Amino acid sequence: MSNIEEKAGQSGKSMDCAKRKADRPARPVRILVSACLMGASCRYDGADNGREEVQALGQRAVLVPFCPEIYGGLMTPRMPSEIRDGGVFAKDGRDVTHQYMRGAAEALKMAQLLGCQAAVLKERSPSCGSHQIYDGTFTGTRIDGMGVTARLLAEHGLRIFSEEETEDCLRWIEEQGSERR
Ligand code: SF4
Repeated sequence: MSNIEEKAGQSGKSMDCAKRKADRPARPVRILVSACLMGASCRYDGADNGREEVQALGQRAVLVPFCPEIYGGLMTPRMPSEIRDGGVFAKDGRDVTHQYMRGAAEALKMAQLLGCQAAVLKERSPSCGSHQIYDGTFTGTRIDGMGVTARLLAEHGLRIFSEEETEDCLRWIEEQGSERR
């Protein structure tokens, strides 16, 4: 085979490869979601926080339900907990910081394993809150802050949305699609 034929063969192969790449459907966006927002009864009191607008994101992205408190080793139902003095404490005073940190680490592991680029998390939870949490006095007082899992995921580059920001999340999903085209 002449050099020219060899080069033509190589360039044909790379064109085929480029075409195959262009034909290949874009990999769907994957998003970690607080399992309680998907309808799982994993809230501290055994209830769920099911939100239709969050579940509907599943039409545009692959949703990965995850509950960091369960993966951290806590039971359902369980004592409510809040963040104070850099730790997490149950209402009876028990220090549950370790379980919360373990749940956050498991959430990060799952997100990285499955290639999740974003998370939609339940606002005000000591694990999942992304803008607000309770102040540690168990009086229903809200303060600005993040839950343990939301903070760890954000520190590792995931885009974090609360269940109150599904419109923003939809726009972000659109942007990811257009970046891949
Ligand atoms: S830890 Fe997160 S996912 Fe689990 S019940 Fe609380 S808010 Fe929902």
